[in-house]
Amino acid sequence: MGGCHSYARTRKAVASKKRVEFSEIDGHKLKNNNTQAVPSLEEKPYLLQGYVSERIADMDIKTLSVLPAGLDEAEWMASNTIAFFKNINLFSGALSEFCTTKTCPTTRGPGDVTYYWSDEQGKKVRCSAPLYTDYTMSYIQELLTDEEVFPTGAGTDFPRGYVFLVQRIFLYLFRTLAHLYWAHFWDVVQMNMHPHLNTLFVHFVTFGREFQLLEPAETAPLEDLISTLCSHHRL
Ligand SMILES: [Zn+2]
Repeated sequence: MGGCHSYARTRKAVASKKRVEFSEIDGHKLKNNNTQAVPSLEEKPYLLQGYVSERIADMDIKTLSVLPAGLDEAEWMASNTIAFFKNINLFSGALSEFCTTKTCPTTRGPGDVTYYWSDEQGKKVRCSAPLYTDYTMSYIQELLTDEEVFPTGAGTDFPRGYVFLVQRIFLYLFRTLAHLYWAHFWDVVQMNMHPHLNTLFVHFVTFGREFQLLEPAETAPLEDLISTLCSHHRL
């Protein structure tokens, strides 16, 4: 109880402090959002200059993403997809105490978009964010451990439709990250994990774009964050 109270108080204090800093965002960094008024702090705290500039290391994200000479493209995509899944799953798990059926009865993303899960008959199902995350991680885990889809034997061919399945995985992983930014950014800040989240997100998006694994329409609601992070990473 005391912990919850002090957490709420700290969170409010952080919000209050950052309200001032929000005005420091450079206008040009919001260029992809320039048809709208500057977003409110409550809506997009992840754009705060003090947060968006933080990352875990000054890495060359582009070099980390492009296909290294001599490597098979499908293999490169597979190994990176597995690594992104592990990292995003870990990240999501670390925040699971904040993402409950009470806090997130539906799965929301930037712009207050609602994400629906598609059941086996292709029917859209509205579900809580923790359930959506469970479905997502189970679905991906199943694909990654399916030898027919992600063969591990040397010289085994990847199946037809492989890229389409990787695109599906990227779609769901993107939505997981989008929900964290939209609904849990203050929780991320509270745990001092925003430098990790920013680095993971910009690497994930850069890799996804390098191999056309992410639909522009899907990433559009976070385009303001993407362009700001890319500019910080000189991408
Ligand atoms: Zn949530």
